[in-house]
Amino acid sequence: MAKKTKKIPYPKPKRLSFPDDEVKIEWLSMLLDAYFNADQGVFEGIRHRMNKGDRLACAKGCSTCCTTHITIPVYPMELMGIYWYVIEQMNDERHGVIQKQLQRVTMEDPCPFLIEGACGIHLMRPMACRHFNVFNRPCDIGEDPYFTRRDDVLTPLKKFKDKALSAMLPFHGIKQKAKQKEAMKQGLIHDLAQNLQEIEWGKLAERME
Ligand code: SF4
Ligand code: SF4
Repeated sequence: MAKKTKKIPYPKPKRLSFPDDEVKIEWLSMLLDAYFNADQGVFEGIRHRMNKGDRLACAKGCSTCCTTHITIPVYPMELMGIYWYVIEQMNDERHGVIQKQLQRVTMEDPCPFLIEGACGIHLMRPMACRHFNVFNRPCDIGEDPYFTRRDDVLTPLKKFKDKALSAMLPFHGIKQKAKQKEAMKQGLIHDLAQNLQEIEWGKLAERME
């Protein structure tokens, strides 16, 4: 009898596609490729953990992490992706809510993209948010399980994570495979990240007028 495979409570990754904008905006395809690689790694990582008996705690409506995490790296191309998405693609009620939150956000506030317990920029959320997944029980209020129960936090599969980060390197002029390999070894891309909570989001709010 064929072995029954466990259903993964995480959407099977699909590369996002914005054909018209991908023609006009040079970096957009790179970013969408990067996110596809990251999502594949998360999917495979979750599958691996579930096969070992862990249960994914992250689920729709659970968002304590978006209020407690104080260091969420955002790479330059991701920041551009957020600008593009919010300004060009967001034509619904999220637009006004996010604009107001960006205008007044402080370091003590939850992430300015959080709307009623859900990520308002889910499709374009940063890689760090995509990668952060927790098993066995949801985070307590104020808890960062990375520090309280590291074993319950998904370790993104290196192969996919490296592929995702490498996909952003051409944006920084690093196009040759050998140079990309060296850049990854040296962790150059990480030096370019900004902390989400420290970004001057008021500038994006102005651009949303
Ligand atoms: S990381 Fe924690 S708070 Fe965030 S969705 Fe997963 S279980 Fe919920
Ligand atoms: S970008 Fe989205 S997923 Fe990431 S912290 Fe903000 S609301 Fe949460």
